[in-house]
Amino acid sequence: MSNNNSVLKIEKIKDLLAVLLTNKCNLNCKHCMRRKDRKKILDFNIFSKVILKSKRFGVSHIALTGGEPGLHPKFENILKLIRENNQTPIIVTNGYTLRKYGQIIKQSRCIIALSMEGIKKENDYVRGPGSWEELEKSINFCRGNKLPFLIHFTVNKINKDNIDDTAEFLTQSGASKIDIGSCLPTYRNKYLVLNKNERIDAVNKIKSSFRKSYIPVQLSSSILNTNNFTYCSSLLLNNHVLDYNGSMCFCCDLADFDVQLIKNRQLLTISDMSKTSFEEYLIKKNKVISKVLEYQIKNFDKMKNVSCNCSKCFIFFGAKLNKK
Ligand code: SF4
Ligand code: SF4
Repeated sequence: MSNNNSVLKIEKIKDLLAVLLTNKCNLNCKHCMRRKDRKKILDFNIFSKVILKSKRFGVSHIALTGGEPGLHPKFENILKLIRENNQTPIIVTNGYTLRKYGQIIKQSRCIIALSMEGIKKENDYVRGPGSWEELEKSINFCRGNKLPFLIHFTVNKINKDNIDDTAEFLTQSGASKIDIGSCLPTYRNKYLVLNKNERIDAVNKIKSSFRKSYIPVQLSSSILNTNNFTYCSSLLLNNHVLDYNGSMCFCCDLADFDVQLIKNRQLLTISDMSKTSFEEYLIKKNKVISKVLEYQIKNFDKMKNVSCNCSKCFIFFGAKLNKK
C-alpha cells in the first residue's frame, strides 16, 4: 500500500489538550465508551477561553475528539482558532466528516487520528457496514494531501487472532504512528473485552508482529498490564481534557464513560470552565491525580491482579469489574 518514503514525520507532542467537541456521532460502534444520549455540543466561548490559556501553560497540540468532532457546528472556526494560537490540531475522527472539511484541514496542517478495529469484516462488525471502505478512503485522503496520520487499533476478542495480518496492513498503510489499545468494558460490550491472559498474549503477538517495522508503535494503558503504578499521559500531568459540557476532566477515555460503571463521577469532573480559571483547574487536577496515585500505593497488592492499567482507574472511580 505504501513505501517507506511516504511516511510523514509528526513533530513531538509536548503537552496535549484533548477536547470532546460533541458527543454526537454518525456511527454506533459496538465498543463505544460514550453514553447513549448524544446531543451535546461544546460552547465555543468556553473552548476559546481554554485554548488561549492552554498555550501559556505549554500545550502544543489540541486533539479534537467526540463523538465525531466534525459534527460540531463551528468546526471550521475551531480549527482556525487553534492555528491562530500557534498550536497544532489533531482530528480524532471516524473519517466520515474528513473530506467535507478537506480544504480547511489542509490549510490548518492538521494531524489526523483514525481508528481501526481489525481488517475488513472485523472492522465493519464493530463500527458498522461500510466503515472499512470509509477508513481506506480516509487513509487515501491523508496520503493524497500529505497530511500526517496515525491509526489507533483496538484489539478485541474478534480480531485478537489476526494481529499478524493487521500489523502487516498497518505497517504498509503510510501511517506515521500506530497506537494500540484494547477494548475497555462498558455495560454493552463485555463479549468483546479481552481477559488478562488474552491481553498478555496480544501484547506478545504485537511485539512479534511489529519487530521489523520502522513505524513507531505505542501501546496504551488499556492493553498494558504491569505490577507497578500506572503512568499514562493523563497521570503524568501532561494531558488535559475539556469535555462538551465545558468542564475539565480527569481522562479522555473516562470523560463521558458509560454511566452504569462509574459511581464517583463527580471526581472525574475537575472544574467547570465557565466559572473557573485555568490556574485553579491545574491545582484541582493535581489534587485528583495525587488521590488516584495514593489509592494505587495503598492498594498495591490488590492492584497487581487487575486486568489492565486502566482498570486501576475504574476501581478508583467506583466501577465494579469482572475479576478475570
Ligand atoms: S467509538 Fe467513536 S466513532 Fe464509534 S460511535 Fe463511539 S464516538 Fe462514534
Ligand atoms: S483510565 Fe487511567 S490509566 Fe487509563 S488512560 Fe485514563 S487515566 Fe490513564
